[in-house]
Amino acid sequence: MGIALIVHGGAGAIEDHAVAPHREGARRAAQIGWQILTHGGSALDAVEAAVIAMEDDPAFDAGVGSFLNCEGQVELDASLTDGRTLDAGAVAGVQRVRNPIVLARRVLESEHTFLIARGAEQFAQEKGIALIDNAELRTPEQIEIWKQCRANPPAPRSAQSIPIRGYGTVGCVAVDRAGNVAAGTSTGGMKFKRVGRVGDSPLIGAGVYADNALGGASATGWGEAITRVVLAKFAVDALANDRDPRAVARAAIEHLARRVGGTGGIILADARGRIGFAFNTPRMARASIVEGMGEVEADC
Ligand code: ASP
Repeated sequence: MGIALIVHGGAGAIEDHAVAPHREGARRAAQIGWQILTHGGSALDAVEAAVIAMEDDPAFDAGVGSFLNCEGQVELDASLTDGRTLDAGAVAGVQRVRNPIVLARRVLESEHTFLIARGAEQFAQEKGIALIDNAELRTPEQIEIWKQCRANPPAPRSAQSIPIRGYGTVGCVAVDRAGNVAAGTSTGGMKFKRVGRVGDSPLIGAGVYADNALGGASATGWGEAITRVVLAKFAVDALANDRDPRAVARAAIEHLARRVGGTGGIILADARGRIGFAFNTPRMARASIVEGMGEVEADC
């Protein structure tokens, strides 16, 4: 049993110029989460902190710098699961919260599991989370991409078109010293998405799942496909019988592709602190560290 942490920063056709920011942003986030774990902090705190770091990094499609929807607004989804208690918290369609993973944590700690849009923002205020103007989440780069999309709307949904339409969702899975597993995911969703469209990321079992008995997972990619196969739960269940998380991650992505023609990626950690990941897109930003490794390994 060892501590472990793995993050992803989205799966897709990440352009060459975006590779270094994605890789280094993932590395920084993993280092932040790892600091918490090595100082005896909880998996839940490590996941939250790592995801906050990536939400605050405009390189990623989460928090500030997210893709805009077809009306030019940022709409955020996030989720957090605690493998110790199976407590879960998620929010979707949030427009005025800087760090939706923090709001998901408050939901996890409440009697609810999932709050959306205006109700989620009201709940944020009740919990002392400041509401901001949506404009604060919109970066000049994303406004430019939105203008291009408006002039030339992305092709309708297809397995082929998905990898270039969306990437940069973030996620983290961690295992702490007490053997607790937690997982979190946060996204601005697909580029130029329909207003109100929600993908897999905030759906417990699809975009995120954790259970101390087995492990945890966070998914990224074409959300509609990931949802149809309930990918994160599928992968966590497949960790049974001490299966190697690397093999399980590969099998999960093969299942996604074979069953629904899906494209995307997944990160996994098992309750023993072993990690795995897989993707069938051109790239996936990720970073990880396990007990005894010394330094975070990052790639994209
Ligand atoms: N899965 C996310 C969604 O469908 C997008 C992504 O991971 O890039 O909203």
